[in-house]
Amino acid sequence: MENCLFCKIAAKQIPSSIVYEDEDLLAFKDINPAAPVHLLVIPKQHLATLSDCNASHAPLLGKMLALAPRLAEEAGCAVSYDADGEPGGGYKTLINSGPDGGQEVYHLHLHVVGGPRPWRGMR
Ligand code: 5GP
Ligand code: ZN
Repeated sequence: MENCLFCKIAAKQIPSSIVYEDEDLLAFKDINPAAPVHLLVIPKQHLATLSDCNASHAPLLGKMLALAPRLAEEAGCAVSYDADGEPGGGYKTLINSGPDGGQEVYHLHLHVVGGPRPWRGMR
């Protein structure tokens, strides 16, 4: 997609700090992190918003979401449990859709936001 920022990042025409790549997905660090860990997972295929997806996109969407815990683990913010079974660590997974959803870049992306608090979080 011409003039799409994240298509250009996926095509490596614009540099980014890539943390994961396969044939379908790219994950990279957000340029303006809202927390100690702030990653974006995108499909390489241009899809403007979640509302452009249907049931045929379920495998791709599932793959994006399933990547989050792996990225969180590698970034050191996975959920873990202490000896008493109390959870620690953690992160948010978030997709903003459309203007009222706070979306600014119109290429589907999943935010993975976490790390030790306090952090400002997302709009
Ligand atoms: P949205 O509001 O659309 O859900 O989130 C867009 C995100 O993309 C924001 O968190 C913003 O900081 C990030 N972003 C915008 N431009 C760039 C860029 O050129 N490079 C990277 N790595 N992130 C960007
Ligand atoms: Zn795009």
